[in-house]
Amino acid sequence: MKYDVIIVGAGPGGIFAAYELAKKNPELKIGVFEAGHALEKRKCPIDGDKVKSCIKCKSCSIMSGFGGAGAFSDGKYNITNDFGGTLYEYIGKNKATELMKYVDDINMAYGGEGTKMYSTAGTKFNKICLQNKLQLLNASVRHLGTDVNYVVLENLYNALKEKVDFYFDTPVEKVEIRDGKYIVFTKDTAYECDKCVLSVGRVGSKWMEKVCEDLHIPTKSNRVDIGVRVELPAVIFSHLTDELYESKIVYRTEKFEDRVRTFCMNPYGAVVNENTNGIVTVNGHSYEDPEKHTENTNFALLVAKHFSEPFKDSNGYGESIARLSNMLGGGVIVQRFGDLVRGRRSTVNRIEEGIVRPTLAATPGDLSLVLPKRILDGIIEMIYALDKIAPGTANDDTLLYGVEVKFYNMEVEVDENLECRHKGLYIIGDGSGVTHSLSHASASGIHVARKISESV
Ligand SMILES: Cc1cc2nc3c(=O)[nH]c(=O)nc-3n(C[C@H](O)[C@H](O)[C@H](O)COP(=O)(O)OP(=O)(O)OC[C@H]3O[C@@H](n4cnc5c(N)ncnc54)[C@H](O)[C@@H]3O)c2cc1C
Repeated sequence: MKYDVIIVGAGPGGIFAAYELAKKNPELKIGVFEAGHALEKRKCPIDGDKVKSCIKCKSCSIMSGFGGAGAFSDGKYNITNDFGGTLYEYIGKNKATELMKYVDDINMAYGGEGTKMYSTAGTKFNKICLQNKLQLLNASVRHLGTDVNYVVLENLYNALKEKVDFYFDTPVEKVEIRDGKYIVFTKDTAYECDKCVLSVGRVGSKWMEKVCEDLHIPTKSNRVDIGVRVELPAVIFSHLTDELYESKIVYRTEKFEDRVRTFCMNPYGAVVNENTNGIVTVNGHSYEDPEKHTENTNFALLVAKHFSEPFKDSNGYGESIARLSNMLGGGVIVQRFGDLVRGRRSTVNRIEEGIVRPTLAATPGDLSLVLPKRILDGIIEMIYALDKIAPGTANDDTLLYGVEVKFYNMEVEVDENLECRHKGLYIIGDGSGVTHSLSHASASGIHVARKISESV
């Protein structure tokens, strides 16, 4: 079976690459291979009733399938070069911003119209943060919400399915180079193509490492972010979230001068499990539809850990910490902030007596048995710093879920076309280590599609 272009992975990177290629070169034969299910078949079995926590499905419907890790996400498309990846280092800031805006236009055309774009530009919170040793990062953010994000994906799929061959539940096992062509192997079949785009996301990190090893593509491992997800009554952050929706705030700790940052803020949202390669960590999302709102806001507090020689396995370090929480709690652990600072575990009773109703069924426990002291101290310092701009953050009943780990794929050596040392092999999205977000991953897909289009 022969294709002009094969795309591995149908997350935002793969979808937008397919979209732009099909638009620019309708004559091209394009195949998209996806390890997970088609969109309508993606269903996490956790129902809060019969299945309360992660049962480690073979293909995690939260992380894999059409839409990738973004399908049930909050659908926050941040248009910024300040965070979300380093695409701008390869293609320049103006180009990166232009592509992110183009992705936004497509999302609006495919069902996102009517959703709100928030911006930090000109906000009073810049000053308030600076006065309290906090830094508010600049961004515009389109909040699609989990519900509208799903509709956009459905519409994109319907528009693409006639132009592109999709293979779901079809993991690509390996990629070989033969006579200048790429051979993509699935369980039963080999497919040949002239150009190959790998967009396998975080869930494909181990697979990507193996491909780089087999094809001698240089990589460098970088960092892992470790922390907790904070959940508190939405009113405590509503002055910020009503105006900005998501505020990315950075704090430099006094004790160790580490940078702690807020990440993935979900006003009126819910905390959820995330399963990466069998390890259960925590994440969050929220719906655009007010009827699906909860009374809480959640966000992550993360500390970035960079390693130097001789240690190279930053993801392994993050996994070990997450495994420890899974070992102690059978999954994610939840603790009241008041219990943490008093040095005692939380119990079912203490959580029930608190004023914050948890939106995720997690095991009450003690995060100080899981998180390294330096990281925990940084998180506690940041909670007190946030309390100054959002009083109530440091309340005893504020819930902390652990652990939240942001695994970063090792950075693959690619050029300004996001093409690796093998001509015609492009590596994009979170799987390349270049992006860590919906908007950057999507923009990287558009970028390679245009580069391929120019070269055929
Ligand atoms: C719960 C949750 C909420 C999030 N919320 C946000 C948010 O609000 N805003 C934001 O910017 N980011 C968010 N993110 C991160 C965002 O989803 C990712 O940055 C983005 O999806 C990356 O896109 P991608 O295409 O690079 O990879 P992915 O979306 O991870 O897609 C990769 C796809 O490749 C497939 N794949 C992997 N290996 C193979 C293989 N060997 N063969 C075939 N297919 C393979 C996978 O199954 C997957 O579907 C969230 C993530 C999660 C998990």
